[in-house]
Amino acid sequence: MTNYITLLKKNDLKATIQRTSILKSIDHAGHINIDEIYEDVKEQHPALSLATIYKNIILMQQNNVIIEVPMNGEKSKFELKKDDHIHLICQHCGEIQDSKITKEKEQILNIKNFQLNNAQINLYGVCQKCQRISLK
Ligand SMILES: [Zn+2]
Ligand SMILES: [Zn+2]
Repeated sequence: MTNYITLLKKNDLKATIQRTSILKSIDHAGHINIDEIYEDVKEQHPALSLATIYKNIILMQQNNVIIEVPMNGEKSKFELKKDDHIHLICQHCGEIQDSKITKEKEQILNIKNFQLNNAQINLYGVCQKCQRISLK
């Protein structure tokens, strides 16, 4: 269980109730878009507006607490900042799986003469569940 207060303070942000609620929602879902965060957070904090959530998400993104995962033709999703990993994104159901970047995968990237600071690799396709459904 992540300590959201420590996480925010470590990244030079005040730990407000709005921010910890948003982080809890993101952490719980894994990858989640802003509308889903809003629906989720609203249950506990009905006074919180979408604009406030949006503002806080941008701020937390700037301070490296969360990262944006761009989705193909859909709203971006957000996740807590973790080690660099590859996203396997299902174009049918929108599910995102995290896949670790192993040494072999690093070699596939074939990066030379470039100082890599962070990586975000998104691979789009069809997840196992959706493959099974389409076979029926
Ligand atoms: Zn799927
Ligand atoms: Zn991820």
